[in-house]
Amino acid sequence: MVIDSTSSAAPSPEGLAEDFLDRTNLTRDEAFARSAMVTTSEYDVHLDLSTALDPRASRYRSTTTLRFSCTRPGSWTFLDFINDGVESVVLNGRALEPAQVAGTARILLEDLAVENEVTVTGDALYSTSGEGLHRFVDPSDGQTYLYTQYEPADARRVFATFEQPDLKARFAFHLTGPADWVLASNQPPTARRDAGTDEAGRALVTVDFARTPPMSTYITTLLAGPYARWQDRWGGHPDSGAPEVPLALYCRASLAGSLDAERIFATTKAGLDYFHDLFGTPYLWGKYDQAFVPEYNLGAMENPGLVTFTEHHVFTSTATQAQYESRATTVMHEMAHMWFGDLVTMRWWDDLWLKESFADFMGTLAVAEATEFTAAWTTFANRRKGWAYLQDQYPTTHPIVADIPDLEAARQNFDGITYAKGASVLKQLVAFVGRDAFMAASRAYFARHAWANASLDDFLGALSEASGRDLRAWSGDWLRTSGVPELWVEEGGLRQAGTDPVSGAEALRPHVLKIGVFSPDDVGRLARTWGADVEVGAAGAGAWTPVAMPVAAPEAGEAPCLVLPNDEDLTYAKIRLDEPSLQAVLRYPMADALASATVWAALWNMTRDGLLPAGQFVEAVCRLAGALSEAGLYGSVLEQARTAVDRYAPASERSALRSRLGEVLVDALNTRGAGDDQQRSAARTFTRLARGAGDGALPDGAAGFLPVLRTLAGTGPDAAPDQERLAPGLEVDAEIHWLAWQALSALGHATQDELDTALAWDVSAMNTVWHRMASAARPEPAVRHAAWEAVISGVTPDGRTLSNDHLSATAAGFTASRPDLAEPYEDRFWTALEAVWSNRSNGLASRTLHGLFPSRQDAIPGTVEGQRNHPVAVAAQTWLDGHPEAPRALRRIILEETDDLLRSLRAQAANRT
Ligand SMILES: [Zn+2]
Repeated sequence: MVIDSTSSAAPSPEGLAEDFLDRTNLTRDEAFARSAMVTTSEYDVHLDLSTALDPRASRYRSTTTLRFSCTRPGSWTFLDFINDGVESVVLNGRALEPAQVAGTARILLEDLAVENEVTVTGDALYSTSGEGLHRFVDPSDGQTYLYTQYEPADARRVFATFEQPDLKARFAFHLTGPADWVLASNQPPTARRDAGTDEAGRALVTVDFARTPPMSTYITTLLAGPYARWQDRWGGHPDSGAPEVPLALYCRASLAGSLDAERIFATTKAGLDYFHDLFGTPYLWGKYDQAFVPEYNLGAMENPGLVTFTEHHVFTSTATQAQYESRATTVMHEMAHMWFGDLVTMRWWDDLWLKESFADFMGTLAVAEATEFTAAWTTFANRRKGWAYLQDQYPTTHPIVADIPDLEAARQNFDGITYAKGASVLKQLVAFVGRDAFMAASRAYFARHAWANASLDDFLGALSEASGRDLRAWSGDWLRTSGVPELWVEEGGLRQAGTDPVSGAEALRPHVLKIGVFSPDDVGRLARTWGADVEVGAAGAGAWTPVAMPVAAPEAGEAPCLVLPNDEDLTYAKIRLDEPSLQAVLRYPMADALASATVWAALWNMTRDGLLPAGQFVEAVCRLAGALSEAGLYGSVLEQARTAVDRYAPASERSALRSRLGEVLVDALNTRGAGDDQQRSAARTFTRLARGAGDGALPDGAAGFLPVLRTLAGTGPDAAPDQERLAPGLEVDAEIHWLAWQALSALGHATQDELDTALAWDVSAMNTVWHRMASAARPEPAVRHAAWEAVISGVTPDGRTLSNDHLSATAAGFTASRPDLAEPYEDRFWTALEAVWSNRSNGLASRTLHGLFPSRQDAIPGTVEGQRNHPVAVAAQTWLDGHPEAPRALRRIILEETDDLLRSLRAQAANRT
């Protein structure tokens, strides 16, 4: 959309709303009005973390000096600073009165000059939500660690900023902290000075960091704590003139023994080689550090020079190849951002996809072409695309190019559309224009917009030049519509259907794709016997495209063959398999991994849509999953089968299906190659499947659940007496151990003493979170009550604040089993909603509301369509009807949770007929 930035120019300060200085939800209009008249040049930011070691200290001193120019001297603007007190504001040498110009979130700057300098001194709060400057105390050794996380707009929780991506500046950070800590930032240190001692007599230093190149506020970063550190170098790249890059890795000291530095460095170097070849612009940010940090809200963040990752990528338990691949994909995704996002940045969050979809696509491409995980597109087809299809069918779906009026909307938009659908559509775009044109356009885009901001039109312009094609129609069809196209074979051709759920209009897209025909080979696997490229038109011509396929309906007794639209997974669409094809894929395993992933995605979509009974999906997994050679795909379909049992099967069938799947998983535990990835995946799904049986009574025929769980739980690291017979070779490490304890607890077969004893073996950060979930899952009313109160208040009974991870673990325990025990809290959920939203950060509020959403989901017998009379659906609709003015981001959470429920009820009802 086009926004006239001058029409929303700032009003006079007299006309401001009373709460103006306390507003955190910066709007796009405010941001554009500000960048229309302000140009930032430099920040100097000093943070004094000398209080960080004192658990009673909740805040730290933050001092920011910001230099900026203004095209309208005499006018006013405001800084963003979510603070715990502002001590002084000095603008162009004038001391302003904090009581008059500073609120809890903004600082008013009046009577601006052409060139301005403002210094703000105040206090900011240590965070436990993963937003801003997060502080964490390691339960295993008592050490304190800090890191920052800002996207989309949390730098303002740490220092005073113009918090919007199009006001780039050069930042110089100065950090005071304990002398024996690692103190790091985007750029390397330039000086280190004594800074006295703290109250406990501990030596302090102040470190000055080199000024950064021009960058947006949301990718600045700081790291402080006794982190363990590894170093290496990437040797540069003669062709692109790229200099050497110093590399470093960081993680908590207590995890140091689990960090496989050599392997991560190897992936990092492979990525730097790869992207230099591909992009033609060197890596321009100096060093490349990667830090693995605790209680991280997301996978990773592309801070140039210092990328942060969730420490779940430091494998303290045995990891599968799928986990190593996932980590490599994250490393490459963040590295792609150094160009897409960091060097060239979207102007506002509407164009978030311009960096996220590109990083997702480029990250997968780099993993497939520059690492040992050559089947990365198979994982993408099943996992990443699965997320896109899910998100794109919610009533809240939106075009890839979204309308983001404010920061709350921006925060909700880090979703399956922006990442996974965008990347899927880019894969289709590459097929559409050709890879060479796409890469040439990327190079031109970097060369043209380096260190600045750009928009979709800038990228499409470069792509039109490189490809010689006008992409306006393509962009309108794919980027500005919503919803999933559907493709199926019909009457000697390919049929397309699609409706845009936002506009309600028919939406047909152009596709470049392949159709494959697969027949059983001599070892009984479906192998490709024919294939063709097909170009499908958009509106008008796109409804049906003739394709000459060498396929006839099978004669009686003849083996059916599979006709697979979207073979090789080039386009983004739900595939409906025709009846002979469905019979073929339910009967035979597939020879080709990517085709197999495409077929399993189609079966899963059909199950979620109520077109394939959940029982048939579970049976297909039971019969065919063992033949899947890709461990990631195997683990993924096992989890889908479990979800089918828990959510899409009618209540009357659930118990039998759980038993059937449970037996197959135990079999896999006992007969897979000892210690292999499939055995571990089977163990993980088995424990989660067992947990779902928590209606108080274990299902018939599944008496095996409890002994298996007890064996996996053991009583300590070296006590698994039955393991000779059960799960031979499986390493019962902390992960398996705690998954088993969580299931036993949810089933009512673990006491609090047993859980506490299990934790006492190793009080690590991860075990502490798993223990909290297991403790909250015990099916006793008093336990559920305590869990509810803790999540709603954010404080444990002994008065400790629940951090982000502990809050989610408590909520997960609350809903882990026995929905009847959670039922008494449903009314309170609806009355607590708004207070939770307004009293907490967006991150913690989202965790709370997703975590506590009523979990009752049994279909009502005798009713079918939509099941809108289900009590939870009725309560949700009543709340939505009664709160049309509630924040859009809050309504979005409720709409999506309700839609999940309705989908589950629809599938259950369709299954019963
Ligand atoms: Zn990203």
